[in-house]
Amino acid sequence: MNRLAGKVTMVTGAGRGIGAAIALAFAREGASVALAELDIETARATAERIRQETGADVLTVATDVTQSASVKEAVQQTQAQFGPLDVLVNNAGINVFCDPLTMTDDDWRRCFAVDLDGVWNGCRAVLPGMVERGRGSIVNIASTHSFKIIPGCFPYPVAKHGVIGLTRALGIEYAPDNVRVNAIAPGYIETQLTLDWWDSQADPKAARQATLDLQPMKRIGQPQEVAMTAVFLASDEAPFINASCITVDGGRSALYHD
Ligand code: NDP
Repeated sequence: MNRLAGKVTMVTGAGRGIGAAIALAFAREGASVALAELDIETARATAERIRQETGADVLTVATDVTQSASVKEAVQQTQAQFGPLDVLVNNAGINVFCDPLTMTDDDWRRCFAVDLDGVWNGCRAVLPGMVERGRGSIVNIASTHSFKIIPGCFPYPVAKHGVIGLTRALGIEYAPDNVRVNAIAPGYIETQLTLDWWDSQADPKAARQATLDLQPMKRIGQPQEVAMTAVFLASDEAPFINASCITVDGGRSALYHD
């Protein structure tokens, strides 16, 4: 408890899934939390749950991470309400899984707009203030697709590889200013995103079982297991972790044979 006491935090895509779990974990640890979310209704419902459970200060801000002005505005609103931002989690992301040669231009742009531009828009909006104050922590939600490729899942892994590049570049650029930029690479986590993917397969039940069979721990992860890692990276317990990525996948990506 109170590992983030007094910190002002913002989480993008926090209406549901991993983002909602991170927002709740931050609130439990004593932070003020802004939920920057495209779907303001899910954000409001999640914010209410967090308030009731933790009594924390929670703000919801309608935000489209693909639009730099929208993210800037969300940061301004958060700071007007809570004060200078200490922590940003760039979590909003979408699956765009295509065959490279039949993919449309729109699929490519949609993927990069959310999964890579969205992360950059967040970083760009908070870095000037963090640099000026000489402190800050940015946590970018990458993926095990940042290191591994599954055929037919193009161009999502290309954007997620970019998230790691962005994390490392900005981590080095702003290290002298005491601003840390890190990433988390989740494996399979039980959220709507994953359920939708299974449902899109010819046999959803078999697809789910096939995923489980490949997990060393014989289960997939829970959003709160990613959130615990975000708390650590956001907190003062990780002052020398920078330009780094922590994988949260139960060991799946270390497994050689399927
Ligand atoms: P969900 O789809 O459950 O949640 C994503 C949230 O982001 C939704 O609330 C969604 O809002 C929001 N969002 C989407 N587009 C935008 C946008 N343009 N601006 C603001 N918010 C937006 O996904 P997860 O919680 O599973 O994923 C969260 C992150 O974790 C993503 O970056 C994903 O790539 C990554 N990840 C997830 C894994 C998993 O197994 N679940 C594995 C590895 C990485 P709306 O509902 O309105 O679309």
